[in-house]
Amino acid sequence: MKKRHLAMLLSKLRGFENPKPYLEQYRTPGDVASSLLWLAYTSGDIEGKVVADFGAGTGVLSIGAKLLGARKVYAVEIDPEALSVARENAEAVGVDVEFVLADVSDFGEKVDTVIMNPPFGSQRRHADRPFLLKAFEVGDVVYSIHLSKPEVRKFIQSFVTEHGFTITNRLTVSFEIPMQFHFHRKALERIPVDIYRFEKSLANSTER
Ligand code: SAH
Repeated sequence: MKKRHLAMLLSKLRGFENPKPYLEQYRTPGDVASSLLWLAYTSGDIEGKVVADFGAGTGVLSIGAKLLGARKVYAVEIDPEALSVARENAEAVGVDVEFVLADVSDFGEKVDTVIMNPPFGSQRRHADRPFLLKAFEVGDVVYSIHLSKPEVRKFIQSFVTEHGFTITNRLTVSFEIPMQFHFHRKALERIPVDIYRFEKSLANSTER
């Protein structure tokens, strides 16, 4: 599978039926999802690995990870409606994903890699914190997407370091958000986002 092919396939999946603004339900665009997944795949963090997708929504990242050879993928999502779309998407593609209907904070499995497109915190401030906290608790390598703004970058840098992780990669891409909520003014908005790879710092990993 090529990166471009993956992007195309993922962009054809079903989106949110009834997107909920307070949960910041924006589906990850195919090209953004495939950029994150490709970075993870080429870094050796997907093939044969146990992966968790936090705030899996419509399942875009989970399905992509499975297509790239993940051994097992947990799709963790709090909204049953979204999870049923993800289930249909996985079935349509013919991949086997482990769906977990739960708040990310309650997820208890250890995994090799966490992938996620968490709420950006534009509706509820710091909505991405529980996602990062849990990811640092259960994974050694974490991929995440955040707004590409100076204040967000500053927060990410210090939060990640405080929790014993290091930023190894940062990739800035354009994220297309279609008009779907009442507070949106444009038919299509493009916002710059950063795709990160975080890795547990060496000093910490010796504890395990
Ligand atoms: N990656 C997904 C969705 C990203 S939007 C996709 O591409 O479709 C963020 C997702 O996080 C939403 O589906 C939202 O319902 C979910 N979410 C928000 N808070 C959550 C929480 N505390 N626990 C689990 N999922 C949550």
